[in-house]
Amino acid sequence: MHSFHYENGSLQCEGVNLDNLADQHGTPLYVYSKATILDHYRRLSDGMGELDCEVCYATKANSNLAVLNLLAEEGAGFDIVSGGELFRIEKAGGDPAKCTFAGVGKTRAEIELGLEKGIYSFNVESEAEVALINVIAGEMGKKAPVAFRVNPNVDAKTHKYISTGKSENKFGVDFSVIREAYERAAALPNIEVRGLQMHIGSQLTSSNPFVEAVEKVAPLVEELKEKYGIEFFSIGGGIGIVYEDTLASGDSAWWDKRDEKPLTIEEYSARLVPLLKPLGLKIIMEPGRFMVGNAGVLLTEVLYEKRGSAKIFQIIDAAMNDLIRPALYEGHHDIVPVKEPVDGTTEAVDIVGPVCESGDFFAQNRELPPLDSGDRIALLSAGAYGFVMASNYNTRPMPAEILVDGKVAHVIRKRQSLDDLIAGEMIPE
Ligand SMILES: *Cc1c(COP(=O)(O)O)cnc(C)c1O
Repeated sequence: MHSFHYENGSLQCEGVNLDNLADQHGTPLYVYSKATILDHYRRLSDGMGELDCEVCYATKANSNLAVLNLLAEEGAGFDIVSGGELFRIEKAGGDPAKCTFAGVGKTRAEIELGLEKGIYSFNVESEAEVALINVIAGEMGKKAPVAFRVNPNVDAKTHKYISTGKSENKFGVDFSVIREAYERAAALPNIEVRGLQMHIGSQLTSSNPFVEAVEKVAPLVEELKEKYGIEFFSIGGGIGIVYEDTLASGDSAWWDKRDEKPLTIEEYSARLVPLLKPLGLKIIMEPGRFMVGNAGVLLTEVLYEKRGSAKIFQIIDAAMNDLIRPALYEGHHDIVPVKEPVDGTTEAVDIVGPVCESGDFFAQNRELPPLDSGDRIALLSAGAYGFVMASNYNTRPMPAEILVDGKVAHVIRKRQSLDDLIAGEMIPE
């Protein structure tokens, strides 16, 4: 869905002009489109045919309370990776009974919180963890619902930092020993074996690794259903998005060279539903990036142009502390001027931030229309793993966040003040 587009020479999000938003709220500024988030949620929740399936949004992708509330109102469940995220879900009006709790390192306090709130399943990543859950559940007089996360040893063919389904990754229990793990867990007095989970990686742009993993794991699911009466199989998240061509292309001559094909829900569904349907149990999906990635942009302003002997640098007021994907895993973001370019002229520039690190760049040798100090640009596809990974490095306050709904722009997080930024710090007497 293309909620970001040019209108009367200026970039808009739905019915809101981004230049005006930047005037009002300053930059750097995260801007999300409500219509896009809802569209993505509905496409996925309606897109899986007659499968009995549930969407548990991967909270970590964008955990602003307003975003969580939007999805809670739609009836979504949530995949969480910390007690903090469970706290957010409740504050946002989400239902803990629709939460699955993932993560390799759940603490005692987090397990207690999950049990107290009655989450749907602990997605367990080791036998040591299930042993501790059993003890804590016993102390609390409860039976803990668990699923093992199986590591199917499948290559997701994505960046190594976001690949999770190979034997050398820290995630899940090895496919080769998973049956024994279930046997031992099922014998524990305070454990109820409820499902099986897997998640092979993030930003997958082909359906092949999903198919390979489901084909490998399906016989195991049938066996576990038979033996322990498990009720769900979670196939994880990981549906990739196209980090290019996220803008309605319009007539701009410089903007016609994109041809990367997205992994569509139609294809995902057409290939997976026939494999999943015969299993006859509830299928859970845990999409993060797919739901919110292309629903957000980071708006920023050009501070200076610097023409070096080898390169042209455009120094902007957003930095790696605001959006770390390029520095962390070479993430790509398309970049477009807020003011619509008048012709097809471009030059190759580096877009860099003010932080004192050479890794603080958003694009290198990127062909972009000419830019001047004071021009605004938008880094596209910044709705997932954007703000949530922001930090205060270089004592830079966190940016504000806006949720656009039609012609209305809601502030969903105030820009952090410098006083807020140092609020927890103390100088010893
Ligand atoms: C991060 C994560 C997801 C979401 O991944 P996306 O690539 O954003 O869809 C789903 N499940 C688990 C267990 C995760 O850790």
